[in-house]
Amino acid sequence: MAKKVEKKIIFINDENQKDEKNAYLLHLLKTKPQVPPVDSVERKLHLLYDLQMIDSAIDDINILRGELPNEVKTLEDEIIGLETRISKIIDDSKTAESDISKKKMDIENANAQIKKYEEQQKNVRNNREFESLAKEIEFQGLEIELLKKRIREQDLVVKEKKLAEDDAREKLEDRKKDLIVKRQELEKIIDDTRITEDNLKGKSAEYQSVIESRLLNAYRRLRKNARNGLAVVEVKRDACGGCFNKIPPQRQVDIRMGKRLIPCEYCGRILVDWSREQ
Ligand SMILES: [Zn+2]
Repeated sequence: MAKKVEKKIIFINDENQKDEKNAYLLHLLKTKPQVPPVDSVERKLHLLYDLQMIDSAIDDINILRGELPNEVKTLEDEIIGLETRISKIIDDSKTAESDISKKKMDIENANAQIKKYEEQQKNVRNNREFESLAKEIEFQGLEIELLKKRIREQDLVVKEKKLAEDDAREKLEDRKKDLIVKRQELEKIIDDTRITEDNLKGKSAEYQSVIESRLLNAYRRLRKNARNGLAVVEVKRDACGGCFNKIPPQRQVDIRMGKRLIPCEYCGRILVDWSREQ
């Protein structure tokens, strides 16, 4: 025997019936599905219909969440990328800076050499020795010029790295702020829906465990192929509630009888009609 609440006609996709739909869902969440009698097509259809209600509610939650999880993931990836870039920039900058200090030391050494040669020049015995030392001094002088040039180049590198670092840090701060906002939005939606979703998923599994696999497979196949995830639909205003094609009167009678499973001739969805029970 169908219970009283099941006699209500619920249009799954009808916004105007939202309260009734919610009341029905709450009823489903509170009750446990029973294995139907082997010969009762009607009970089997009812189980499928209830499963559809539950699965559609889960679909609604996922639509509600929309693209937010993807947006959060993209931001998280971007932040990791920027942090990697910044640490690479810092490494490059440190390498350039240590190169600069090394070259400064080289300059000091070269200057010390020059001083030493200049001292030696004061004590030379002949012109040849003096000239030889003069060449060494000239060489060290050229070396110093070259080192200074390299230092200027590395200074430019350090400056560029600093600009790149500032730029990356600015972007990183922006992304972090975006992420906080997106995460809050997502957490709010998940909080609002999690309890319900967990309950619905558990209930969906309960229903799937009492529905025979042949029916369940057909249901799953239909749901996968249907744009709106509807595999079981009600007859609405003499038409299929899934594709809205008219259903011939005799076929409607057969559907209402609930003695066998009747698919829509156009879209293949399983048709139900509980109005006989009212
Ligand atoms: Zn149809």
